[in-house]
Amino acid sequence: MKRRRLRIAGTVQGVGFRPHLHRLARSVSLTGAAGNDDEGVWCEIQGRRADLDAFEARVTAEAPPLARVDSVRATDVPAVEGEREFSIAPSALGSGTVAGTVPPDVAACGACLAEIADRGGRRYRYAFTCCTDCGPRYTVVRSLPYDRERTSMAAFPLCRACEAEYHDPADRRHHAQAVCCGKCGPSLSLESTAGEAIEGDPIEEAASLLRAGRIVAVKGVGGYQLACRADDSAAVGRLRRRKHREEKPFALLVASVEAATAISVLDDSALRALTGPEAPIVLAPRRESAAVAAEVAPDTRLLGVMLPATPLHALLADAAGVPLVCTSGNRSDEPIVTDDDRVGTELGDIADAVLGHDRVIERRADDSVGHVVAGGFQLLRRARGYAPGTVRLDGDGPPVLAVGAELKSTVCLALGADAHMSVHLGDLEHPTALATFETAVADLFSLTRATPELLVHDLHPEYLSTKFAVSSDLAPRLGVQHHHAHLASCLTDAGFRSPAIGVMFDGMGWGTDGTLWGGEILVGDAGGYERFAHLHPVPMPGGSAAVRQPWRMALAHLHEVFDADLPALACVTDHLQDAPQVLGQCHPGQSILTTSMGRLFDSVAALCGVAGTVTYEGQAAIRLEQAAGPDARRYPVEISDGTPAVIEFSPVVEAVTADLLAGHEPSAISAAFHRWVADVAVAVSKQGREATGLTAVAISGGVFQNRRLVELLVPDLEKSGFEVLRHRQVPPNDGGISLGQAAVGRATLAGGS
Ligand SMILES: [Zn+2]
Ligand SMILES: [Zn+2]
Repeated sequence: MKRRRLRIAGTVQGVGFRPHLHRLARSVSLTGAAGNDDEGVWCEIQGRRADLDAFEARVTAEAPPLARVDSVRATDVPAVEGEREFSIAPSALGSGTVAGTVPPDVAACGACLAEIADRGGRRYRYAFTCCTDCGPRYTVVRSLPYDRERTSMAAFPLCRACEAEYHDPADRRHHAQAVCCGKCGPSLSLESTAGEAIEGDPIEEAASLLRAGRIVAVKGVGGYQLACRADDSAAVGRLRRRKHREEKPFALLVASVEAATAISVLDDSALRALTGPEAPIVLAPRRESAAVAAEVAPDTRLLGVMLPATPLHALLADAAGVPLVCTSGNRSDEPIVTDDDRVGTELGDIADAVLGHDRVIERRADDSVGHVVAGGFQLLRRARGYAPGTVRLDGDGPPVLAVGAELKSTVCLALGADAHMSVHLGDLEHPTALATFETAVADLFSLTRATPELLVHDLHPEYLSTKFAVSSDLAPRLGVQHHHAHLASCLTDAGFRSPAIGVMFDGMGWGTDGTLWGGEILVGDAGGYERFAHLHPVPMPGGSAAVRQPWRMALAHLHEVFDADLPALACVTDHLQDAPQVLGQCHPGQSILTTSMGRLFDSVAALCGVAGTVTYEGQAAIRLEQAAGPDARRYPVEISDGTPAVIEFSPVVEAVTADLLAGHEPSAISAAFHRWVADVAVAVSKQGREATGLTAVAISGGVFQNRRLVELLVPDLEKSGFEVLRHRQVPPNDGGISLGQAAVGRATLAGGS
């Protein structure tokens, strides 16, 4: 008789790992025990040596689908006399750092969806059905280790039937922490926003309100959502007005893959993402025939489509029978509402009724968003289903906390070899988002009990995340340049461990020379960088006003190229009254300078007449991308020598102006402009290769949310012999900044020791 102790690390809690070990032990007739603790899962097995070896090999090979085993360490221990079976031990509560991670929430599995459709079964139409393979995790966890008594399911003692399933090793609910049924679990309610109960079956009644064009607040897994029927222009328009969201696209909830393909064109990659356990919103081209109101997404031909992530959503979508708008339950861009107590004040004048329930949402998580680009699925917002799943780092190192940027905020804690990323926290411009941000930071610590050795922040002094860091005494601080963080984020995300040429194109980030950067070619890695090239700087007349009013940027670019002799384009003649003041702000010293590629997109959009003013971030670029027709023309690329080299915008602004004056359509100009941006990136990458010998190009920054550009650039770079490094696990926009900051922090600590 031999006995062995195994220590299993990775995403191994809340994913059915102990039941997996239990089944394995039985199948090879071993005795012993398994349990959760702060470091992951431990297990002791006893039996013949050959059986122990067989068990050990199968621990990883046959791990449950949601698990990620990072390591299994085995040590021999003395055999135990008289042990008769394999048991699951109660969790050990330690006080050290918790290396285990909370698993993300998992969309309802096929078996559970079949169960809620089974008339004879005891979970028929039960909205909180789940099992070891699916259901809420992150959004119900209070603390680790992940066991029912430390989740919001603790309020619902198991009935006998559920308890029997929970303890039966042969059942798919063996040790499923959120298991419940209609007899013992949470229950639904439907109320008016004034708090009066609405009689009848909550799902059926909510569906009939939706069908009648009303707006219903739905308590989802990570927060309240707002729903209305998507084919009803009046209902969608009402939702926009009440929510103060003028033009930013709304996501859609559909009941099935068939319903999704009826309204949007989904290739294999898109279908895989759509039907995966993360159940994100997938952006896909709209079908001409789609019965979806134009008000859902006025700026784009793409629709954001998602399948039900919970049985509640499955039942509701099915009962409604039409695609539903399903958007974050908040006013404008504030954080999504999670508290039942706040629904009345926050959503009372938006929704007509509230479909709620009595399970507490412990943690906020918006729906995740992504799209398929250049053959792969790319996340644009990382939240429910993905977070707080970790990203592997270069290696081990001291704990580092990174607080991200400002828009699309996330925070990241580097712990061991893992980066623990928060969910998408929204834009920190809103005071309520700042509270969410502070909660997320506290949360990372309470879940991991780590003490950071370094606190990393952006260089922008006005970002609320920077201010938080500056006023914090958590750890020594390190400011990291925004685009260096983008580069390090992309390299970490791609698992690339050498320096690369980084094409960092985005809206803007604070530079080291007092200008706002955003059209940057950086050469380096997390340990350091050199600014190899950048776009020619231009004034931003009126500062942030130029972001909201792209026509101001257009005047700035025209002024740089044509001086006082402005061409008679609509974006000039339409603003004749304001032009002198704006042009005055273009004189030296009057406005902050920027090298932003995002602002150049804004200018071209304004020149083309597709976006003079915008109501949400990125809108001008989205409209310009949507305007692009077939790709025929090419604009000249000019890069001036120097250290750093300068990418000139005057040739492209001159060419766009000439084309507009010659009567070319915006579709042709937009196509040529996208082509020009790709050509610039390839040309400057080649110069970078010549200068440094590096052959890998990392692409990151908000501009690379643009599908058209990525699909032009990636094959062009590959044809030129470059290895292209792209984001896979975190978004290319500022949602990925905290990961890069953490990587730079780690490299800095390593370099200094
Ligand atoms: Zn299930
Ligand atoms: Zn039950």
